[in-house]
Amino acid sequence: MMDLANLSPLLTALLVLGGLALIFGAVLGFAAVRYKIEGNPIVDQIDALLPQTQCGQCGHPGCRPYAEGIANGEEINKCPPGGQETINELASLLGVEAPELDAEHGSESELPKVAYIREDECIGCTKCIQACPMDAILGAAKQMHTVIADECTGCDLCVEPCPVDCIDMIEVPVTLGSWKWKLPSEPSKDPNIIATDADAEGDAA
Ligand code: SF4
Ligand code: SF4
Repeated sequence: MMDLANLSPLLTALLVLGGLALIFGAVLGFAAVRYKIEGNPIVDQIDALLPQTQCGQCGHPGCRPYAEGIANGEEINKCPPGGQETINELASLLGVEAPELDAEHGSESELPKVAYIREDECIGCTKCIQACPMDAILGAAKQMHTVIADECTGCDLCVEPCPVDCIDMIEVPVTLGSWKWKLPSEPSKDPNIIATDADAEGDAA
């Protein structure tokens, strides 16, 4: 008897806490559904076609913001790392003409590039680490810095801030090991893409 009485306040507290947890859980669940931010599917598709170098040569602080800009009608020819191939894929996705790359934003490089730090000249100022959007540089203050080549997208952003100019952008020759099959882009929206021996009138030629 005594024990139950002593326990009833505890049981009450547990019941109250359990009830509160249920209520808050329901409120949070409702809010998650009611205020869910729908991603814009076209922005996702455009972003998937951009090279994800996050280099900012398009004038935006990364590829996603540029994808949002394109979805809002911005030109599709501002991405040098992606080059003409990316422009063609974007044009195919959006069903528009593919313009030439806008030279104002830079030129397309034939081969991919990666940054290389001449380590014996590095003074360990960490400026390159701060500039790198990919966390591709290892180093510490007053210590030598080096680039993790697999993480580097060749965006060039670390070269300019280096006070001793000891960072080179070197072209990476395509080898069997580094060759990547470029997945075909979305099927073209052009209805006449399928080769057929029927002429425009549909009569067999
Ligand atoms: S190391 Fe330099 S080139 Fe490579 S991703 Fe970082 S900032 Fe860009
Ligand atoms: S910016 Fe240049 S000097 Fe400074 S840490 Fe990087 S590589 Fe070294």
